[in-house]
Amino acid sequence: MKTISSLPPAAHATSRRRFLKAAFASVGFAAAAPLARAAEPKPDLEAYAGGERDKEGRPLRLKTKLRITKLETMLVKPRWLFLKVHTDEGITGWGEPITEGRAKTCAAAVDEIAPYLIGKDPRNVVHHWQAIYRHAFYRGGPILTSALSGIEQALWDIKGKFMGVPVYELLGGPTRDRIRVYAHVGNRPERLKERKAEGFTAFKTGVKDNIESGVVASKKFIDDAADAFAALREAGGDDVDIGIDFHGAISPQNAKLLIKALEPYQPMFIEEPIQCQDVDGMAEIARGTHLPIATGERLFTKWAFREVLEKRAATILQPDLCHAGGIMETRLIAGMAEAYYAAMAPHNPLGPISLASGLQLAASIPNFLCQEQVNLGEGYLKNPFTVEDGHVALPEGPGLGIEIDEHQLADKIDHDWRNRETYFKDGSVVDW
Ligand SMILES: [Mg+2]
Repeated sequence: MKTISSLPPAAHATSRRRFLKAAFASVGFAAAAPLARAAEPKPDLEAYAGGERDKEGRPLRLKTKLRITKLETMLVKPRWLFLKVHTDEGITGWGEPITEGRAKTCAAAVDEIAPYLIGKDPRNVVHHWQAIYRHAFYRGGPILTSALSGIEQALWDIKGKFMGVPVYELLGGPTRDRIRVYAHVGNRPERLKERKAEGFTAFKTGVKDNIESGVVASKKFIDDAADAFAALREAGGDDVDIGIDFHGAISPQNAKLLIKALEPYQPMFIEEPIQCQDVDGMAEIARGTHLPIATGERLFTKWAFREVLEKRAATILQPDLCHAGGIMETRLIAGMAEAYYAAMAPHNPLGPISLASGLQLAASIPNFLCQEQVNLGEGYLKNPFTVEDGHVALPEGPGLGIEIDEHQLADKIDHDWRNRETYFKDGSVVDW
């Protein structure tokens, strides 16, 4: 492994952090206290900048060479794909380049993108996104955009670690003090109570027995589904928030009836009331209810979200940072949403790197609602996230703010996850 001086990588990182602290301090107080610059530790500058200087003798930090040397993917239980991007300075970045159920396909996509990235500077995150996305010619889609998303997360992780700051600092600094997260409870009131006791204040459920709904549901189905939600409301009380995910599995014929039956219990949002491709249909549903409509987990890049916003099909956007194009692309989608007074509740049924990416985004946008999570990193991270009063604290570490525990990861490598195959009573295929 090549380094820019005789210092080991860890020493570099420490030197950089010390230098950056001093440098930021001197920039922040330059006008009021010019003497602060004198505090910059000269030996560290030498190690840090590799000897390059501008006309005034200051280190040309961004001219410090940093090159991608390897992209390493690993299947991680239960169904994830982790990516570790290596650099010649020893800094590594992590991402989750995965579409659920297509981990190996996404790994192949990353392998095909790797030759473009090897030897390039990982810090040019937006430029690489453009090159990978546009040079593919066939743009978007779940596989290519998920591969790109995970790569983009890893590049941000490297850049943040190099700079010694969390990614949200590179996106303009924190916009909040803590980040609300929500937990899945199924249709189990007892589970909601347990999770509430763990500290959660926001929850999500699916539609009870959704694969039984059929094209035109019986009155009993609609009543039972509404009663199941009512039981969650009863268990949680009126001061908690509970979203309900139709999962695009409820037919357009049934969606309006079910929403009407749910309205008295005021779900936080109705997620994917119908298949997300029918944006006009979703807009019609949105106009017919007072409940907020949410969508986005199966939409890719700003171009897909444009139509949702323009047609007023949803007021809560749920891009997945592992599918929609990564951190910056989701930041751009958040900006588009802000112009329509829409809020962001990023989708995340994946692992701790996905969650960490979402938290970096949440920390840096004004129109954040809540972050989905299914795993706080226990067994995967050296310091898993913790929930208090419904929120996790603002991450403080550099990059994505997490440290993967590769020792604990060792017994979770490899899986053969397959998505569900569901059929209606007559044997016909049904969405799940
Ligand atoms: Mg969903």
